Amino acid sequence: MDLKTKHIYLSPPHLDGREREFLLQAFESNWITTLGPQVDAFERDICERVGVPHAAALASGTAALHLALMNLGIQQGDEVLCSTFTFVASANPIIYCGASPVFIDSSPDTWNMDPLLLEEELRVCSKRGKLPRALIVVDLYGQSADYDPILKLCAEHGVPIIEDAAEALGATYKGKSSGSFGVMGVLSFNGNKIITTSGGGMLVSANKEYVDHARFLATQARDPGPHYQHSHIGYNYRLSNILAAIGRGQLENLDKKIARRKEINHFYREAFADIAGMEFMPIAPYGEPNYWLTCITVDPSQSRASSEDIRLALEKENIESRPLWKPMHLQPVFQSCRIRGGVVTEKIFAEGLCLPSGSGMTTSDLHRVVDVVRKVCVGS
Ligand SMILES: *Cc1c(COP(=O)(O)O)cnc(C)c1O
Repeated sequence: MDLKTKHIYLSPPHLDGREREFLLQAFESNWITTLGPQVDAFERDICERVGVPHAAALASGTAALHLALMNLGIQQGDEVLCSTFTFVASANPIIYCGASPVFIDSSPDTWNMDPLLLEEELRVCSKRGKLPRALIVVDLYGQSADYDPILKLCAEHGVPIIEDAAEALGATYKGKSSGSFGVMGVLSFNGNKIITTSGGGMLVSANKEYVDHARFLATQARDPGPHYQHSHIGYNYRLSNILAAIGRGQLENLDKKIARRKEINHFYREAFADIAGMEFMPIAPYGEPNYWLTCITVDPSQSRASSEDIRLALEKENIESRPLWKPMHLQPVFQSCRIRGGVVTEKIFAEGLCLPSGSGMTTSDLHRVVDVVRKVCVGS
């Protein structure tokens, strides 16, 4: 393939470990469906990595969020608070349960949920006598939210936290792993995440009952016994043994993937240091991100090129970049939902871009990206 025109994707799968070996084990043992030794081993490996005792491998991160809400008994008429700056999958499961999302804006220092706005919202909810039934906090683009104040506020008001760590496997907050902060944590192994099973997710928790009940609901809620009897509505949400095998191979190399994505982040920071008006997503001092995606903002009043100009210039060279997540409170589907704040993520969204960040990128790939961006922003 011609290296000058090879398509560079935003964050493609990167198979560089023992995925094939584990897959063959699954084939040769004839365990290729939704149960089996690879699923069990993948769940154990994730528990060890995240530092939580229990985990259920599921068909997607979205399924994990849905079951987390079901575990908390979220239903029609309930309100659930949620980060506005996220992928739609964080909020959709609230609707699956018949509940209403209420969105919270981000802090400009971390791009994650602003604890001060959360405090305001909880105070208002408390005053009117109806508290939210849960809070979904997102660890955005691989960086942890600020859990100390969030945990304190939620404990004061008795609101359980679901941590949406779909983008943040391997990140830490004050030394503790992302995914371990809520009463339940959610991971995703979707194709563009830092590790992938092609598609998949995991629900993790210190509470065995939550994980057992999620497993029960995920397998069509079948009552114990030899015949098919059902007293609850269930789902078909479990991960196949084949996909878990890929996940095990991927997870073994997670630290290598984080290290490479961090190098890529630093490479871009250095290469663009002199571009007026270009900023990178801030790295909060409280933790270590997994550097899933490198994100920038470009202030059009200072820069020759807008983030959209950069995106189009990259596209012309066969390089994929993407706008940042469009905040949930700006989505047509959530237009009737309440939002606390909003201007911070509106500005970040308007000026932002995700750069190619895959752990399989080569140095020559990086130079190609840098050359295009520099050319449109500074002419060289
Ligand atoms: C990817 C993602 C999800 C959903 O995960 P799937 O495995 O694709 O269902 C949820 N929340 C966030 C923040 C994500 O980025």
